[in-house]
Amino acid sequence: MSGYYDVAQICLNGHVINPSVRTSPEFNADFCELCGAQTIMDCGNCQSPIRGRYHTDGFFDFGSYAAPSYCIKCGEPYLWMQSALDAAFELVEFSEVLNTADKEDLKQSIANIVQETPKTSLAVMKFKKYAVKAGKEVAGGLKDVLVEVVSETVKKAIWG
Ligand SMILES: [Zn+2]
Ligand SMILES: [Zn+2]
Repeated sequence: MSGYYDVAQICLNGHVINPSVRTSPEFNADFCELCGAQTIMDCGNCQSPIRGRYHTDGFFDFGSYAAPSYCIKCGEPYLWMQSALDAAFELVEFSEVLNTADKEDLKQSIANIVQETPKTSLAVMKFKKYAVKAGKEVAGGLKDVLVEVVSETVKKAIWG
């Protein structure tokens, strides 16, 4: 059986508009119906198409599709990933209980939990520790901006 990846259309805030642009162009939209942001189909850095749903001949996959975080051609984070990181870093700075060293350590942990690297498990532990220390308000804000951009494994490890 042969298959191929379709192209995905995603809004600048990371909402998936259409994971199958080539096979189902009728679902395309210029702007996101959830947040009003512009939609894109390729990497802002290298212009490669965003990898969409995988299609196999004679089989239609209705499984879930999540917006990718990084471009598979140039390795740059997509805009929604960058926005989530920026927002998370701002929240960390907003904390009044964390000291400067804590803040730097927490930011490093956040950068590591949004990527799948050998450092991810340690980063998850640190993130949880600092989230408790930072307090409910900051922890809640961090969850809101990060929950959509971390992997399922990290999501479960942090928020259950
Ligand atoms: Zn959107
Ligand atoms: Zn790229």
